[in-house]
Amino acid sequence: MTLEQLLKSTAERASRYLESLDERAVVPTTDALTQLSRLDEPLPDLPSDPEAVIALLDEIGSPATVATAGSRYFGFVTGGSLPATLAANWMAGAWDQNTAYTVMSPIAARLEEVAMRWLLDVLHLPSDCAVGFVTGATQANFAGLAAARHAILAKQGWDVETQGLFGAPPITVVVGDEVHVSLLKALSLLGLGRERVIRVPVDEQGRMRADSLPTLDDKTILCLQAGNVNTGAADPMAVIIPQAKAAGAWVHIDGAFGLWAAAAPEREHLVTGVDLADSWATDGHKWLNVPYDSGLVFVREPQHLRAAMTVNAAYLQQTDMREASHYTPEMSQRARGVEIWAALRSLGRQGVADLIERTCRHAARFADGLKAAGYTVLNEVVINQVLVSFGDAETTRRVVAGIQQDGTCWCGSTVWHGQTAMRISVSSWATTDADVERSLEAMIRVASTVKQAVI
Ligand SMILES: *Cc1c(COP(=O)(O)O)cnc(C)c1O
Repeated sequence: MTLEQLLKSTAERASRYLESLDERAVVPTTDALTQLSRLDEPLPDLPSDPEAVIALLDEIGSPATVATAGSRYFGFVTGGSLPATLAANWMAGAWDQNTAYTVMSPIAARLEEVAMRWLLDVLHLPSDCAVGFVTGATQANFAGLAAARHAILAKQGWDVETQGLFGAPPITVVVGDEVHVSLLKALSLLGLGRERVIRVPVDEQGRMRADSLPTLDDKTILCLQAGNVNTGAADPMAVIIPQAKAAGAWVHIDGAFGLWAAAAPEREHLVTGVDLADSWATDGHKWLNVPYDSGLVFVREPQHLRAAMTVNAAYLQQTDMREASHYTPEMSQRARGVEIWAALRSLGRQGVADLIERTCRHAARFADGLKAAGYTVLNEVVINQVLVSFGDAETTRRVVAGIQQDGTCWCGSTVWHGQTAMRISVSSWATTDADVERSLEAMIRVASTVKQAVI
């Protein structure tokens, strides 16, 4: 089989797979999981035909996937892949560009520059921010906080990149009580410590309480959140950020998905003031619907991110253009800007706004439908997140397990302010009104069966 035939047959397999998702259960069947043991073979001694390798991958692998690329997966915060981004990902795979340095790939460098400009535009962030294309919001939090650490210590004459943190002046880190664990992970990797933080109390939606802020100063990193992973709520940016900036603090925003509210005119008010921060982390692979893995860091004053990330060596030939690896923890890296560019190029400003608004509307419909059926929605449904209780903890757990098993759709569970709840996150471009109705019907059917069994 020629390379051309291999690629064509693989594209056929991939589109057959995607077409099959509407009919199959979101979770793999028991049989599909049993078949995975066929992969547990010894390392082959001899080469084999690439087509046979791909056939094995498709035959055993495709049925054992969770249908997150389909239209009824509402677990975690999971975007699909927009058609243009999936195809761009294939194209970029064929290119196989390392985008660390411009000399390695003029096209990747140019697409990043264009995508950067468009991202800052669509998210209403300052147009001269530095942008790093990273693997996800965790790495984006890491990079943004590394820039913050650099800026705060450099101001005190301490060069953290060369000297490390031993003997450095202390940095105070302030987080909301419902900070995402990803941000705490980033703090731990940076030597700032997961528990060495001041936690600010939050309100009933998980928003930081502006009246409970500690005293802030120019040795403080204040971490705010746009998009609480349970409720979707954003901290009161417009109240808190100006105060923090006046005190000289660095303000970092974890906006893994919630930052995208800024791209939809009807939701933008939820994150008013977010553009006043110093650094922002967000995901491409959640609400923008580009393939994994893709995250973005934005830093208002580019020199701080550059100082934290740049290394040089004689053999690393550099240009006077933007060098991608000066803005990311990675050196060698795939061309993540390609898919971001394709998403924004195919959607346009209007399409991004529609994607955000449509998924929020689907979430509201879930909330209304479940309320009408007699169940309790625990959060204010402000964006794409819904928390629902089906009764006591045990009943709710059983309903969630039943819904997962039923396979029409998939939702996870959480504990929200002491109450066990099902979490619905509508983040995929592919979800339609019909998907929402079909999923609601399944949720209500399973819930009433569980309720009857309990009685
Ligand atoms: C998902 C999420 C993260 C982590 O993002 P990854 O892409 O998994 O690294 C961080 N913060 C919030 C609020 C999130 O929702």
